[in-house]
Amino acid sequence: MRRLSRLLGLCILIIAGIDAQASSYPVVPVEMTPIRLSTHAYYVRGGSGIATENYGFISNAAFVVTPQGVIVFDSLGTPALGAQLLETIRSVTDAPIRTIYISHYHADHMYGSQAFSETGAEVVASNGAQRYLESEVAQQRLQERRISLSPWVDEQTRIVVPDRFLQGEEQFMLGSVNIRVIDIGSAHSEGDLILFVESDGVLFSGDIVFEDRIPFLGTSSSAAWLDVLTQMQEVDVQVIVPGHGSAASDPRKITSLTLNYLAFVRDVMQQAVDDWIPFDEAYAAVDWGDFIDYPAFLEANRRNAYGIYLSLKQVYRPRNFADAVFWNNHR
Ligand SMILES: [Zn+2]
Repeated sequence: MRRLSRLLGLCILIIAGIDAQASSYPVVPVEMTPIRLSTHAYYVRGGSGIATENYGFISNAAFVVTPQGVIVFDSLGTPALGAQLLETIRSVTDAPIRTIYISHYHADHMYGSQAFSETGAEVVASNGAQRYLESEVAQQRLQERRISLSPWVDEQTRIVVPDRFLQGEEQFMLGSVNIRVIDIGSAHSEGDLILFVESDGVLFSGDIVFEDRIPFLGTSSSAAWLDVLTQMQEVDVQVIVPGHGSAASDPRKITSLTLNYLAFVRDVMQQAVDDWIPFDEAYAAVDWGDFIDYPAFLEANRRNAYGIYLSLKQVYRPRNFADAVFWNNHR
């Protein structure tokens, strides 16, 4: 019996040794199961909460597997989660990882790139991501996450600068799979990519679509975002994988929360701007009942509304001469 337990202990040590060699990142205690969507497309689904919950695993990542290589869409919110995603992909295929497309440069979708770039895979982002990289927000966010997501984000964590920025659209065949990557410009963020696995009818939307939680509006261009969402309602696809929440087959259904929420916040805040109502007063007067029960409402809603209020104020157009005189005297 003693010999058996000693032998088992030795086996565990050997396995632990192999694990430590396979990845220099600690193992995150989360379930990360590859969910198969079609012949070639898979995704892993993060939890529904805010950025610091579930060890930072709160967004989705997706990948396309062909014998000639793997294309990855997003790398998750910490280097350790990126390493875990890499191992999850390795549980499906040994094919080389060619390119990682980052849907947008927000921390929860791209801090995992560090683990991928170490494998030599190419990292590609939207042209607009350059504005994020040049902004103070990028460094401020990293400092904040080193505290709020410690020890998963630490002094070794760095923001991976893409090898290439994409503007417009690129289309290519990998194996027998036809892939289109489209830069839709500034919508949810400074620059958003979507990826369409055309052969399989699977669309990876990134944070253009949030499902099962209040969207994060941040520094979005809300009018452009609404426009993209309206177009996305009509797309002819088999499956849409959102940036947060579960994949679904009905484009109208999966886009409805993001679209309704964005349209509602814009409407009520536009009304407040038009009527010169101060933000606090306007916010308190809104009936948020349709959205109050969604995860992240408390953390995100007021900030979202304020961001939209400020952005609408900047483009305020007086309705008549009296408004214009008043506005010019008060800005
Ligand atoms: Zn996100």
